[in-house]
Amino acid sequence: MIDLRSDTVTRPSAAMRAAMAAAEVGDDVMGDDPSVQRLQALTAERAGKAAGLFFPTGTQSNLAAIMAHCGRGDEYLVGQLAHTYKYEGGGAAVLGSVQPQPVEHAEDGSLPIAKLAAAIKPVDDPHYARTRLLALENTFHGKVIPQDYIVEAAAFARKHDLGVHLDGARVCNAAVASGKTIAELCAPFDTVSICFSKGLGAPVGSVLVGSRALIEGARRWRKVLGGGMRQSGVLAAAALYALENNVDRLAQDHANAARLARGLAQIDGVTVHGHATNMVFVSVAPEHGAPLGAHAKEQGLMIKPVYGAAMRLVTHLDVSEADIDRSVAIFKSYFAK
Ligand SMILES: *Cc1c(COP(=O)(O)O)cnc(C)c1O
Repeated sequence: MIDLRSDTVTRPSAAMRAAMAAAEVGDDVMGDDPSVQRLQALTAERAGKAAGLFFPTGTQSNLAAIMAHCGRGDEYLVGQLAHTYKYEGGGAAVLGSVQPQPVEHAEDGSLPIAKLAAAIKPVDDPHYARTRLLALENTFHGKVIPQDYIVEAAAFARKHDLGVHLDGARVCNAAVASGKTIAELCAPFDTVSICFSKGLGAPVGSVLVGSRALIEGARRWRKVLGGGMRQSGVLAAAALYALENNVDRLAQDHANAARLARGLAQIDGVTVHGHATNMVFVSVAPEHGAPLGAHAKEQGLMIKPVYGAAMRLVTHLDVSEADIDRSVAIFKSYFAK
């Protein structure tokens, strides 16, 4: 099966499994797991931060970060379509007593500074939640957020005494696509959450990086949230393997996404709305959404309609260039009928 539903569908390779099997482990809640410590240190180093903390998921990593930055009755500024607002079950409000203040995105995915300024609440007025944090996301729907904007937004946030967090689930894709280092992209932020379970190909895991003080705060919340894991070096070994072997190759996923976009654009019946890093956004007429999905599945291609007829197709390390050509051929065969 060729699976373009998401880059979360990757399976650990034989070499990654071998690294997992060979991992030295200990009880990480007691600080005894050398593989987890290596992963945390290496990720922090790559991101140019003082410390790192391993989490089972990116959702928990983002939540612990928000809780490390904000207390009860505080709020964070966040994109209306950001993962940390829309796709994490309202965790910041539900579990953190932190109110999100959503802000509309500009076309490029950024949150306009004027809108951020208008959303910040007056200090010392008990009518309002205390605005404490700006949370951004990069890549956002596959797009690399312009670094000039990020630098400006972070400086603006600091001027207003806000912390700055990045949901960098796919920051490695942003680094490879922009030719900047991960550290350059992370530099404007106090904390960054990085996913290993997406295009990097590990089965689970995210690392939150940041200052020692914020990471210690997040460590406390990780335990409270049920994320204190024991011999998690088995999992950290997969993430370490991914960090050492699977970052540069993201360029191939980006090239494959561009190839997929070009191929699909040739087909009458498919509208390609755009592509960025490892994602391609397409739509078909609503009546073709479900039958196309069924045809594709029968032919060995998994795709996931998002809103009936609009689709996000995602490339990753289990999809080859030949798989891309095969996928285009499967779309073509449907519309040739
Ligand atoms: C996947 C993802 C996360 C974290 O998701 P988990 O499934 O909890 O690891 C966070 N932000 C973005 C943008 C993501 O794509």
